[in-house]
Amino acid sequence: MKDQVIPKATAKRLPLYYRYLRILNNSGKQKVSSTELSEAVQVDSATIRRDFSYFGELGKRGYGYDVEALMNFFAKTLNDDHMSNVALVGVGNLGSALLKYKFHQSNSIRISAAFDVNEDIVGRIVDGIPVYPLSDMAEQIKLQQIDIAILTVPAESSQPIVDDLVKSGIKGILNFTPARLHAPKSVLVQNVDLTNELQTLIYFLHANSQDENK
Ligand code: NAD
Repeated sequence: MKDQVIPKATAKRLPLYYRYLRILNNSGKQKVSSTELSEAVQVDSATIRRDFSYFGELGKRGYGYDVEALMNFFAKTLNDDHMSNVALVGVGNLGSALLKYKFHQSNSIRISAAFDVNEDIVGRIVDGIPVYPLSDMAEQIKLQQIDIAILTVPAESSQPIVDDLVKSGIKGILNFTPARLHAPKSVLVQNVDLTNELQTLIYFLHANSQDENK
């Protein structure tokens, strides 16, 4: 791989490419053209070529892409070739729903431990995943070599948990709470906000309908 940081927008599209390549590979297809790839993932081919160019020569001109080679390349790039244990903190409405989710598009992500303060939940196995008391968090994170945590607690409880997660060696946090979290630069925090996503969608729907009326 070329020694450079890839843009965030490119990084976000990689799972999309990878997912489609896995479908093609499972169906026995050996090569794919950039036009086919573009139509399937709905990203224009110039963007795909630019995205791929960050990783050097991935295809041959006039041949297209070797499905298995490209799929294996993205598996490595996305770390999908080794198991990532993930922790979830806050087994309420949203947390329980996420525990049910089987990450079917990845071979290698699994929530292996959940944490909560509610005594009615702690000690139970929810959808195959043990729920530990918050006081066991540091120990379990080390024991299970967990690098990533999903945060689904009330916003007001979130910062002290983040501080504990950081002390326990967590390297990435997927934050579902509306709180803006403080963490050292070495810890990546990714915020997920459905309201933002919906507002963006609504904005583009209106922008498109205004274009059509011109
Ligand atoms: P919930 O009240 O159903 O669940 C919260 C859980 O966190 C409960 O099980 C509670 O016991 C636990 N908890 C509370 N304090 C804790 C602590 N200090 N340590 C560990 N566990 C603790 O809430 P919910 O509806 O599941 O929402 C959870 C969070 O997700 C909220 O912050 C909410 O705003 C957010 N949310 C975000 C989105 C989004 O799009 N990002 C959507 C829905 C909800």
